[in-house]
Amino acid sequence: MEQGITTRKKERRYRDQADFAKAIFGERVQKLSVDGGFSCPNRDGTKGQGGCAFCNNRAFVPEYCRAEGGIARQIEEGIRFFERKYSGQKYLAYFQAYSGTYAPLEVLRERYEEALAHPRVAGLVVATRPDAVTPEALDYLEALARERYVCIEFGVESTSDAVLSRVNRGHGAAEAERACRESARRGIYTGVHLIMGLPGESRREMVEGAARVSRWPVHLLKLHQLQVVEGTPMADEYRANPGAFTLYALEEYLDLVVDVVERARPDLYLERFVNQTPAAYLVAPRWGVKNFEFAALLARRLKERDTWQGKYYAEI
Ligand code: SF4
Repeated sequence: MEQGITTRKKERRYRDQADFAKAIFGERVQKLSVDGGFSCPNRDGTKGQGGCAFCNNRAFVPEYCRAEGGIARQIEEGIRFFERKYSGQKYLAYFQAYSGTYAPLEVLRERYEEALAHPRVAGLVVATRPDAVTPEALDYLEALARERYVCIEFGVESTSDAVLSRVNRGHGAAEAERACRESARRGIYTGVHLIMGLPGESRREMVEGAARVSRWPVHLLKLHQLQVVEGTPMADEYRANPGAFTLYALEEYLDLVVDVVERARPDLYLERFVNQTPAAYLVAPRWGVKNFEFAALLARRLKERDTWQGKYYAEI
């Protein structure tokens, strides 16, 4: 591991999504959002109602991605969109909307396998809640993962139960850790999504939480800054009481991400650090920075601080 850290310091300062794609597929792959027509247990009353305080699915699902018309049609439309920029690349069908495992097993099987049957689709990425994957679905995904690339992205969001409760998440941190460990144990690529800046979570708690998550046996970590999005309970709360929120300025967030990178497991892949909600939906903060622009700023900040992924991993 020490060799890995030393090498990283000299060459690139963290492992990113492109490194992961190269390691697994030997080339670039593009995630392509697909709406499987699933719902969410935190909206239909099974776990809760009203959804997570920060969530408005319409704000992050691309226009071409509508469940009506089926999976193959969305894949074709998505490919047409991306081919303008990178022709001939492979795709991962990304079941991103709502909870990507929240349906009876036969429905999941039908939707996933329709996606995998497309000749340009190299694998499956399923975004879901830690409490929305049944043992039967895991058995099926485990078997599928022996033949095809399969990744589950768990929305962990925070490692603080108090914070999760405050945003009406409907599950706790221990449940999230158990789900991640179980998925990884079964040979399924496993990713974690965390939100940085949820109300009630201090900077130190976020950094320590991300450091703890990076000790779980997961493969990928995605962070994004808290964004207050139109049409959510959080937008109403923010307008009524903006003082209850700490929305980071871009410069502060850069340093927060560097602190996380320094504590991350050296062989973890850090998939992304920011999200861009379309302007029509975004209440705050309005940084106007795209993912690749943030990556360039981060590379510069890591160099300025002469630091790299995992620098302090062994000390935690
Ligand atoms: S974030 Fe996921 S779990 Fe929460 S309300 Fe939205 S779709 Fe449901």
